[in-house]
Amino acid sequence: MGCPSGKRGYFSEGEVQEALIRSQIGFARPAVNYYRCDDCGDYHLTSQGERHPLLDEPDTRDRIKREQWEQEWHNRFK
Ligand SMILES: [Zn+2]
Repeated sequence: MGCPSGKRGYFSEGEVQEALIRSQIGFARPAVNYYRCDDCGDYHLTSQGERHPLLDEPDTRDRIKREQWEQEWHNRFK
């Protein structure tokens, strides 16, 4: 398997949403959305285009903030 785009594929929408949120937590230039790929049929993250509404839901924002804070805390003791 593998996609001609070279991007990592996610089998389910739940999985790619999780990856999208994790990307917001951990990356300086995070992904903002995802799409269904015509070539491989999986979902891929993208850092271009519209911001996915999921990211602006209060629950998601709280989670991102909380986990970023936790990550900073860990980094302090590395
Ligand atoms: Zn693909």
